Amino acid sequence: MSNLRFKAVEAASGRKAVEVPAPGVKTSDYFGSYVFDRNQMRKYLSKETFKLVMDAIDKGVPLDRNVANHVAAGMRMWAMELGATHYTHWFQPLTDGTAEKHDTFAELDGTGGVIEEFTGKLLAQQEPDASSFPSGGIRNTFEARGYTAWDPSSPAFIVDDTLCIPTIFISYTGEALDNKLPLLKALQAVDRAATVVCKYFNRDVKKVHSYLGWEQEYFLVDEALYAARPDLVLTERTLMGHESSKNQQLEDQYFGAIPSRVSAFMRDLEFESYKLGIPVKTRHNEVAPNQFEVAPIYEPVNLAVDHNLLLMATMKRVAERHQFKVLLHEKPFKGINGSGKHNNWSLGTDTGINLLGPGKNAAENLQFITFMVNVLQAVYKNNALLKASIATANNAHRLGANEAPPAIISVFLGATISKVLDELENSTGTSNIKVVEKTGTRLSLSHIPEILVDNTDRNRTSPFAFTGNRFEFRAVGSSANCASAMTALNTVVAYQLLQFKKEVDELITKGEKKEDAIFTILRRYIIESKPIRFDGNGYSDEWKTEAKKRKLDCETSVPLIFDSYLSKQSVQLFTETDVLTEKELHARNEVKWETYTKKIQIEARVLGDLAMNHIIPVATKYQGILLDNVSKIKSVFDAAQTKTLAAQDLALIVEISERVNIIKAKVDEMIEARKVANKIENEREKAIAYSTRIFPFLDEIRYHIDKLELIVDNEMWTLPKYRELLFIR
Ligand code: ADP
Ligand code: MG
Repeated sequence: MSNLRFKAVEAASGRKAVEVPAPGVKTSDYFGSYVFDRNQMRKYLSKETFKLVMDAIDKGVPLDRNVANHVAAGMRMWAMELGATHYTHWFQPLTDGTAEKHDTFAELDGTGGVIEEFTGKLLAQQEPDASSFPSGGIRNTFEARGYTAWDPSSPAFIVDDTLCIPTIFISYTGEALDNKLPLLKALQAVDRAATVVCKYFNRDVKKVHSYLGWEQEYFLVDEALYAARPDLVLTERTLMGHESSKNQQLEDQYFGAIPSRVSAFMRDLEFESYKLGIPVKTRHNEVAPNQFEVAPIYEPVNLAVDHNLLLMATMKRVAERHQFKVLLHEKPFKGINGSGKHNNWSLGTDTGINLLGPGKNAAENLQFITFMVNVLQAVYKNNALLKASIATANNAHRLGANEAPPAIISVFLGATISKVLDELENSTGTSNIKVVEKTGTRLSLSHIPEILVDNTDRNRTSPFAFTGNRFEFRAVGSSANCASAMTALNTVVAYQLLQFKKEVDELITKGEKKEDAIFTILRRYIIESKPIRFDGNGYSDEWKTEAKKRKLDCETSVPLIFDSYLSKQSVQLFTETDVLTEKELHARNEVKWETYTKKIQIEARVLGDLAMNHIIPVATKYQGILLDNVSKIKSVFDAAQTKTLAAQDLALIVEISERVNIIKAKVDEMIEARKVANKIENEREKAIAYSTRIFPFLDEIRYHIDKLELIVDNEMWTLPKYRELLFIR
């Protein structure tokens, strides 16, 4: 990578230098140039080492220390040529985001000098001083440390001067302390289970990949305005702020023209993403003002998850150069849409077949329907768990709050697929095969018109929608690590496919023909999983009533939603698929409850502080001015005239007093409630207390603050308002 390719130019705002490709440089010229990908490996590794690394990536063959030494040497050489001086094990602790600890390549050479070195040992394993990462009690700080271990299936990359090596993070006793290890295990489980099911249709299938294409929504706010909002700085969401008179009513923002300052940011973000090999493809405005989306081309899940985490970090870095702050929070502003991260998910074979896309012939369509129905059944049986996989304190503001997604998981299939399943359900005996042949033909004939017309984006209210060749899990939050949802989804599907295989094989053993056996089981699944199918309006109250009747999980309390991870059924499926042990599941839930509590606790503290030292002082100061005015009127006019002339001031004075008194009383009550809750030792109970006894205060206090915002003199109001925060100029 020569410096000639890029030229430094001033940022749009003229503060920090922004690098852009020189004229004539195409994306393909520099895509992945900061990634130690297969091409670079081929260049920097010997033929033998390269082959062994490929086997490790493609077949999971373990690498020995000797090979690791060779890889490390090649990697270091490559990284140093690109200006890297440090390396880090990049991992995904149970908090949001990623963690890293940087070490330099420089080592003492023993003769008084310094030499750059990077051994296989350092590449393969590291012990970060990670005792302060949440572990849910698995790793007692004094007894055992955790260590990070290289994941060769996700390539190393360079950010600034640092070589980043994707790793898993585990305790000394082998328990996962991160989001990556369970994800890798879930991908392995679904690969194994799906491969054996594929063999019913095609014996050549050796591997099934799981794919993910995420759509990242986010808000941008001006850095200076952000800095003047302590609630944004400390909690990433506005804890107060009256709706702007204009927000998204006109729906003039969606797909509208992108403001030039924003498009400069987007171009820069794309440039940085391409260098890191993130195949971002789409950018557009979203529904809310200042809300945008970026989406890549889908990739294998592990890589897609790493790329999403890397993108989120890159967005923050790039935004600074444009005097923006990126808000990844699920609900930064009240009254306008929040942000999600649709997870487009599919399974595909190493023979190039998308298992969730209609095929070209009857056999492929039988395979398609098999996977479709198994996914339906898996989502049906585990709808509570899937909801738990996306539930967080932040995402609770979206779930069930009359915007995408509802707090009940259901599946939208669209008319075409619904009809196919209905036909299959009502067919009997051997005529089944004919049905599918018919279906196959019809599907392939009507493939283009019907399935495209049926595009599920029309039903934006569905949290889990079939979109022609993939499922779209839309309930995932914008700040989330997709690994959580992807681990749960791939695990439940893996487990379901194992059950399916077992049940079909039993029938075959009893003498049924293979196709008949498959049909018999599929038909049963179609009937059983019916309650999960819903094509109507997911926000309506009728659906809530109906879903309850169908016995779908309707819980809306986040701490209670987490319980689903520990149900007998969940423990069984996670342990049988070898994704997470019961101990790990318990530990993770401890972390989830604790994180939930902390989030609400911080919000409550910030709101309390702001109410007492920003809002009340300003409101009373303004009230003082009004009082002065009234006494001046009184000194000039008689009592009767004063009553009329000062009517407005008097009303405001009273209103301010009333609201200030309520705010003060509620803040005190909230503090008392916190004191009580903080004494609870059980993390689950504490989280429940925070959700039922402290969380409601946030809205109650805010309500009165927002009313004050409307009446207090604009000049005196210290916090930037929604109308300023939400419209970039
Ligand atoms: P939308 O209409 O939902 O905005 P897009 O065409 O923008 O859809 O695609 C959304 C995401 O879905 C992209 O990341 C895209 O690469 C991904 N995607 C497309 N096909 C598949 C598939 N078969 N499996 C997984 N993801 C897919
Ligand atoms: Mg989409």
